[in-house]
Amino acid sequence: MSLREKLKALEELQQVDIEQTSVRAEAEAVPRRRAEIEVGVGVARKACQAEEDKLASVERERRSQEQTIATERDKVKKWEGRLAEIRTPREYAALSREIDIAKKTNESVGEQTKLLLAQAAEITLAIDVLQEKLDEREAGAQEELEGLTRRASEFAARIVALEARRAALAQKVEPVLLKRYENIRQRRGGIAVTQVVGGTCKGCNRQIPPQMAITLVRANSIENCPNCNRIIYVPEAVSPATPPVA
Ligand SMILES: [Zn+2]
Repeated sequence: MSLREKLKALEELQQVDIEQTSVRAEAEAVPRRRAEIEVGVGVARKACQAEEDKLASVERERRSQEQTIATERDKVKKWEGRLAEIRTPREYAALSREIDIAKKTNESVGEQTKLLLAQAAEITLAIDVLQEKLDEREAGAQEELEGLTRRASEFAARIVALEARRAALAQKVEPVLLKRYENIRQRRGGIAVTQVVGGTCKGCNRQIPPQMAITLVRANSIENCPNCNRIIYVPEAVSPATPPVA
């Protein structure tokens, strides 16, 4: 295989590696996004639950007060029945006072019950709003999670395809050159092969020596950028048949 072809294979290998890195990053973002969605739904669910708990406690209090009122009312009824049997005015006055006090207590408890009833109605409205938000959120989450599942399997399929393509390309490049490529890639942020355009290395944006530019045009040796050490090539020299891009 000519050096030109090897360089071309390296160039393609680099493209595959770049794409693989980006697909893997996207694939790794999926579980993170999934967790975020679940946290969001959890927060909305908790807000709803908190209001429901509040409502239950208000209702409990109201029922207990109604129980008190009923008991007191029975007592008053009994006492009022007893009034008729009382012979002394002192006793009569005492029981009447008891009855008055019990009635007043019932009235004020009744007022509190009304307040609790109003409070319960307010909380119920708040729950309706929160429940609606929760429903919306759950539906949105469901849809997004399904999309994420689809994307995750797309990413997995793309990674498999890219790995196969990479293996085929790696076979075209001799092992020593491949090792050199891997070493540079690790040290240079994933980019080991880069173009030289107008005498400038696209990897580090520095000018390369004019003599090296001439060597590159011949494309019969593997050259490294003197500045960033990446494998460099001139696109026209590696793919001379490529028609100029309009
Ligand atoms: Zn460079």
